[in-house]
Amino acid sequence: MKKIFSVIIFLFLSLNYLLPQSKPYVILVSLDAFRWDYPDRHITPNLDKIIDSGVRAISLRSCYPTKTFPNHQSIITGMYIDHHGIISNNFINPVNNKMYRMSDTASVRDASWYLGEAFWQTAERQGIKTASYFWPGSEVHLKYRRPTYYEEYYHYRPNKERVNQVINWLQLPQNERPHFITLYFSVVDDSSHVYGPDSPQTNLAIQIADSAVGFLEKRLSDIGMHDSVNVIIVSDHGMTEISADRIVNIEKILEGYNCKLWDDGPYMLIYPPKGQLKDVYEKLKSNENHYKTYLKSEMPEYYHYSENPFIAPIILVADLGWSLTKNKGGWLLKEKGNHGYDNNALDMQGIFIASGPAFKKNYKTGTLWNIDIYQLLCKIFNIVPRSNIDGELERIEFILK
Ligand SMILES: [Zn+2]
Repeated sequence: MKKIFSVIIFLFLSLNYLLPQSKPYVILVSLDAFRWDYPDRHITPNLDKIIDSGVRAISLRSCYPTKTFPNHQSIITGMYIDHHGIISNNFINPVNNKMYRMSDTASVRDASWYLGEAFWQTAERQGIKTASYFWPGSEVHLKYRRPTYYEEYYHYRPNKERVNQVINWLQLPQNERPHFITLYFSVVDDSSHVYGPDSPQTNLAIQIADSAVGFLEKRLSDIGMHDSVNVIIVSDHGMTEISADRIVNIEKILEGYNCKLWDDGPYMLIYPPKGQLKDVYEKLKSNENHYKTYLKSEMPEYYHYSENPFIAPIILVADLGWSLTKNKGGWLLKEKGNHGYDNNALDMQGIFIASGPAFKKNYKTGTLWNIDIYQLLCKIFNIVPRSNIDGELERIEFILK
């Protein structure tokens, strides 16, 4: 009897060793510009269901500047913007005048801009297949820095098509199937820039994004994977109301100086001509009205925005809801919403909602930091994170079971 018992235990242990360990699944969904408080508008039944069965943080803290490409990079690398190198949606290398522009496919695919290691690269190195249905940095030309499966960005791709491809990936044979997948929806950002965060059009966009999440949940149920997949829903930043009445023309203030002004709206980077740094700084400082002037070296520490060599010698940070412009105000005069302001401002905070086998159930917590999500992913997959990251596991791991 004792012998039979030993044999059974031996067989059980051997089987356990021989069978592949079941790797977790994670779908990381980004709802661009989905502000922290939108779930409280009671128009998001699908998000409500996920919140009830999982975790909701009161908000997700973005990095400064609270812009799309920099923050998607922070989420996926665990690094401050200073360190991962995508310092804005559009910026310039002042040494060789090369430009990074989010609308320019060639620059977005040039791997040399990206200094951090994206989670998909960390995971692939450690034997986990990954996929991305859109994420800044997922299309780079270097194959080893990309997910195994990825999509070239197309802004107008229907949401259902995006979800269906994610489902197709999850139905691939075991040895080809990705276990980590990103998914991205821009609809709320699109609407709230044009109409403002408190408009009926933005509420409609919130409902469309919620429906896309609901469709994902339904399709996961259809293929019998709903209870085995972890779904993490985040946003890159929030949104605040802007107005054509709250505008400061920086080009006019700097008339007579031959400065290069880069970017506009919530902040501006100023490159003064050689030898004029002090004069330009003092001119801006003495005209300070609804914006703050910083030398790169005196940026407040919590911005973590003073080390990267591409950041200009002078940085202007607009007060919440104010816009810095050049002589041609352009699009800023027409739009009703924007982001990119101080990441301490409540309006700039995003969402964090998650459910699945790895997460606590019906659990509410305070503000989480987006740079900690990379560490969280490594923990869920039980893989080794890069050592040079800024995120801290201690700030987020308590939401796991
Ligand atoms: Zn965004």
